[in-house]
Amino acid sequence: MTDVVLDDDGVARSIEEVRELRVVPPLWCAGQDPNGQPCRQRMRVKALHSTLKSPHFAGGHIGGCDHGSHRSEDRPGDVGHLHPVATGTAGWRVVVGEDAPTTGPDGRRRPDDQVAGTTTRRYVPGPTTAGNAGTGRRHLESVLQAAIAGALPPTMTLPGGQPLPASETVVSASDGRDSRFAARDFIVWGAVTVTRRVGSEGATMLLLGDRAQRFGVLIPADLRPRFALARDDEFVGRHAAVLGSRRGAADRPYIAPRDAGHVTFLPSVQVRPPKP
Ligand SMILES: [Zn+2]
Repeated sequence: MTDVVLDDDGVARSIEEVRELRVVPPLWCAGQDPNGQPCRQRMRVKALHSTLKSPHFAGGHIGGCDHGSHRSEDRPGDVGHLHPVATGTAGWRVVVGEDAPTTGPDGRRRPDDQVAGTTTRRYVPGPTTAGNAGTGRRHLESVLQAAIAGALPPTMTLPGGQPLPASETVVSASDGRDSRFAARDFIVWGAVTVTRRVGSEGATMLLLGDRAQRFGVLIPADLRPRFALARDDEFVGRHAAVLGSRRGAADRPYIAPRDAGHVTFLPSVQVRPPKP
């Protein structure tokens, strides 16, 4: 398992970086053997444009190289930890499910490509390949978990958008008040502190963040029954992440999700299927 390689200048390169390059430069193993002897074997990039496997580095190694598959670091299992997932340019993060004997979710066998291993599943990449940025609630929940943990990947891609720094795409309630986010699609996240009924149709405004820095989430009347909470105040205290475009006055911004799948909560809220 090799997550990082070196280029000709000795600069460490991740698979995410390499896949952004138009031409793959010569790459070398960054590992070393137990005596500290650098491996420096030629590495290749595999499955760079595959929609079935995650791209990864592969190549030969000197004996005992700590980047070689026989000293795989994923043996102890990675359940319950956040991991970067090399799926397209989205860079969503996910939490791994239960241990299971399996080939890797990237289609590789562990510890060896050629041999079915008995080690744990590592990453669950989800269907967020390039051109297919995830919009499902599960992806949004991963984003929310990463945002709360302060562990967002450097770049994110919103559905139909270009890769942008995460600071431009996943924004806390207070930061989302900045004028540069006016009329833009983005993900806003924060803790629900107050709720208000809006109008007589049953729409609900959830207010994220502190009193002076609030950011609204307008749950329209047709979406409100999809969330299986009887009372609005049951939203209070949950973290929310919402995908949508910013609306409202500069001092009272809000975001209005177009779909129940564009909102997620932690602790999670059950979402009912739409009425036929
Ligand atoms: Zn090596």
